[in-house]
Amino acid sequence: MATPSIDWRARAAELRIDGRAYIGGQRVEARTGETFDCVSPIDGRVIGKVARGREADIDAAVASARQAFNDGRWAHKSPAQRKRILQRFSEKILATKEELALLETLDMGKPVQYSLNVDAQSTARTMAWYAEAIDKVYDEIAPTPRSALALITREPMGVIGAIVPWNYPMIMAAWKLGPALAAGNSVVLKPSEKSPLTALRLAEIAVESGLPEGVFNVVPGHGGEAGEALALHMDVDAIGFTGSTRVGRKMLEYAGRSNLKRVFNELGGKSAFVVFDDFSDVTRAAKTVAGSMFFNQGESCNAPSRVFVHERIADEFVKLVAAEAPKYQPGDPLSGSAEMGAIVDETQLRTVLGYIDSGHEEGAKIVAGGERVRAETGGYFVEPTVFDGVSNQMRIAREEIFGPVLSVIRFSSEDEAVRMANDSSYGLQSSVWSDNINRAHRVARALRAGTVHVNQYDEDDITVPFGGFKQSGNGRDKSLHAFEKYTEMKTTWIRIDF
Ligand code: NAD
Repeated sequence: MATPSIDWRARAAELRIDGRAYIGGQRVEARTGETFDCVSPIDGRVIGKVARGREADIDAAVASARQAFNDGRWAHKSPAQRKRILQRFSEKILATKEELALLETLDMGKPVQYSLNVDAQSTARTMAWYAEAIDKVYDEIAPTPRSALALITREPMGVIGAIVPWNYPMIMAAWKLGPALAAGNSVVLKPSEKSPLTALRLAEIAVESGLPEGVFNVVPGHGGEAGEALALHMDVDAIGFTGSTRVGRKMLEYAGRSNLKRVFNELGGKSAFVVFDDFSDVTRAAKTVAGSMFFNQGESCNAPSRVFVHERIADEFVKLVAAEAPKYQPGDPLSGSAEMGAIVDETQLRTVLGYIDSGHEEGAKIVAGGERVRAETGGYFVEPTVFDGVSNQMRIAREEIFGPVLSVIRFSSEDEAVRMANDSSYGLQSSVWSDNINRAHRVARALRAGTVHVNQYDEDDITVPFGGFKQSGNGRDKSLHAFEKYTEMKTTWIRIDF
């Protein structure tokens, strides 16, 4: 995927970066006037200053969202009216996609052609899909006796706090905004401090599209400051959180310590990719696992980072994956042709390199990559890395690395493969590769994960739910099921006299 016709470096030189918060339809500085540096992982340079939101800024944003909700400027519009505005929002995202893609790449390091053709496109599609859905969703009437009518309706919840990570900043925001806004809620979004820029632009674009001011507010800032203030806020009705399992735990505590707001956690993963020796196209399986693992620098919650391969085909499979890996060698994210970009920041770079060291120390063998590269650019790049000889007990197999590091683990029987695949605190996604239809179904049923793929890994669509079992979370983003998170269910009894 390449975009050779655009000179992204020239565009970047002209780009004006505005890191101020967006509250009540206005760009505003943080109440304290504080900012933090926005560092580009491409070259380690400061590209702008971002408002450092704290409790007072969250209070202002929640107050603005609450007022907008209570006066009905958005919630009381008909579904068809909300639909038209959100459709315009989607169209404007597409019209602004080159700027959004550039901001995304400068901010978090992914190749710009993916920011353009995947992230910006998917964000627009998500908004359009929920816009289209909202005037086609019906409520229920219960099968009660004749003497009464019981309506079961869904109402917007009120003020939604959305807290999102840095790996797909726009898409993660859209997965919250789409259903939350379509259902009539107001939103306060806290983007990651590592990637706040596109969220701020999206808020401006939403209001330019006709979304009433105050309905969608964005407060950038640190997790322990703005994030904590939002999750503890007494006037926030629900938190839609995507991020690490460590912080997801805190979300539940914050709710317990405040107003028992609803918490929907979409958390980490350590996804299993299980290849049986009865699968005939080992080359396709190897290409697929490399493509899925190294996409987005391995910074995907559902990256297939644990690959279980039957011992009879393991040597061949490892050779094939090791040969695929160099195709994802990192390059300049602004070139328009690099297959892999920069790791989001220096801290994450150190984390990834630390895991590579730990794999070594625990006795696994590197068969591809393993090094930091392009250090002379000042940016944070790591080679696509493949470990062979991994045991499921090693840290590289148990902990989420969130970088381009794939572990191959050998197995000798179906039972052993299922047991090891399920022996993880996570349960986000998994995949089984087999030409035996009975085995494929058996294993797909046995795998404890929110999504199971059979003989592929890439399919994804806004029409299907996405979320995890176990410590990968409790909510489901995407599809009509996401409305369940951002609406309250109400029963209304009406007496009928005959
Ligand atoms: P993170 O948990 O460190 O941060 C996520 C968000 O929470 C950020 O906005 C951060 O500022 C905020 N935050 C951090 N500490 C906080 C606190 N004490 N109180 C309130 N907010 C706080 O995660 P990350 O490093 O940004 O993202 C990577 C993680 O996200 C990985 O674990 C990945 O698997 C997960 N993820 C999950 C999904 C999914 O759909 N399940 C999708 C993408 C990413």
